[in-house]
Amino acid sequence: MPFQTPIPLLSCAENNPATDPFATLLTVAFTVIFLAWLGYDLRESRRNDWRTHTSVFYCLKCRHLYSILRRPKTAPCPKCGFTNPNLRF
Ligand SMILES: [Zn+2]
Repeated sequence: MPFQTPIPLLSCAENNPATDPFATLLTVAFTVIFLAWLGYDLRESRRNDWRTHTSVFYCLKCRHLYSILRRPKTAPCPKCGFTNPNLRF
């Protein structure tokens, strides 16, 4: 039985990640997905910041619906000046 030399699993010339087009494509695809995820996450966090720092009020006197960019428990109505409690959902 003749002696066979083992086939190398990793050849430096053929499977070099720097020159492999599939590895380059995969790296670019993952980079694009990562940047898109980062952008959407940043946008959502900004949107949720605005929503969590806003309180909604309903005037019991003139039925005006208004919001304020803070979280006070009561706020005066911009139309009639009547002080209303915030709405809780
Ligand atoms: Zn009012």
